[in-house]
Amino acid sequence: MTMSRTPAQRADSLTPAPFAPDDLARPEIRGLPLYTPDQSTTRCPVDVSDNTNLWGMPPAALRALRDTPASDVARYPSLYSATLKDALRAYVGVESAGIVTGCGSDDVLDAAMRAFGAPGDAIAFSAPTFSMIPTFARVNGLESVAIPLRDSADDYDIDAEQLVAADAKLIYLCTPNNPTATAVSRSAVEYVVTHARGIVIIDEAYAEFATVTHDDLVARHERVLVARTLSKAFGLAGLRVGYGVGSPALVGLLERARGPYKVNTLAERAALAALSPGDDALGWVRAHAALARTNRVRLSDELRDLGLFALPSDANFLLVPMAGARQVGRRLQELGVLVRSLTDLPRDLAVLRQSNGEALRIGVGPWEIMRQLLDALREALR
Ligand SMILES: *Cc1c(COP(=O)(O)O)cnc(C)c1O
Repeated sequence: MTMSRTPAQRADSLTPAPFAPDDLARPEIRGLPLYTPDQSTTRCPVDVSDNTNLWGMPPAALRALRDTPASDVARYPSLYSATLKDALRAYVGVESAGIVTGCGSDDVLDAAMRAFGAPGDAIAFSAPTFSMIPTFARVNGLESVAIPLRDSADDYDIDAEQLVAADAKLIYLCTPNNPTATAVSRSAVEYVVTHARGIVIIDEAYAEFATVTHDDLVARHERVLVARTLSKAFGLAGLRVGYGVGSPALVGLLERARGPYKVNTLAERAALAALSPGDDALGWVRAHAALARTNRVRLSDELRDLGLFALPSDANFLLVPMAGARQVGRRLQELGVLVRSLTDLPRDLAVLRQSNGEALRIGVGPWEIMRQLLDALREALR
């Protein structure tokens, strides 16, 4: 027999609890901080904080943006960037490779985790590395396993054996590594790729500045995904174009997780233009990457003259361990120069232990900008 209730009692039981979005959100999302790398929201006249191309973008890409008719933007872009994928495959030079594009390589990395990592699976990476990785892992319900970099003299290589021993579904390598700027050795990459049991993501956002790249591995190892971007050497960070290179089977799965229409019409046009042959396109990119490599040596020397030490860089930025980096960063900002101040870096490396886990990360660009940075740094250190 059911108890009879008065209309008032019935209405009471139907009254929903006050709407509290927090209670309904997934625990991984609740409390997840927004990405706020810089303390200030005002733009600094000199901004060397995010490793973008400080020379700008190839003239051919700018032309492509200007020449795109408005009517094209009123339509949807291509579903999976077929034309751009062909151009990227030719640029990478691995004929048999599958290519997947994305809204920045962030999108490719996120989609890779979504495609292969089920909630509760692990992703192993060496620390410190790209700050978005633990965030994407958390959003996708993955467990992060951080393995310290090796700390033998002048060797900032990954601990390949420990990374494999973590037995994670995904392993993430970043070479040259952000924020250290150091390269992972070829032998360590090969060890991971041949011994891993899951997916190996090799993030080569800074490939154009590096001595060695590892995209050739995708032809021999189906588990390898190389993630690249047009945000750094190609100067198109604001357009958000990234890509992944891997076996067609691997990339096909990733593309399903990614979804359609991720590269917008203007971005695809500019990317295609930047990848075309010629001094105002790919030639421009290569020439300016070479300039960045020259200037990083010169900047490193100048920093040494100021009594500072930069880790050996294979990228277009330098990591300068420095106790009090946050205060120095603030003083630089007052002087109109924005660098990335990092704190709480893991202290497994002696140089970071000595700096209390603090460092400045400085992007390399035209010498005129480097000169302004050095002037401000001299002032800030006084
Ligand atoms: C800048 C960067 C990226 C790329 O970001 P986009 O989303 O392509 O702009 C990826 N990985 C690392 C290590 C980076 O430093």
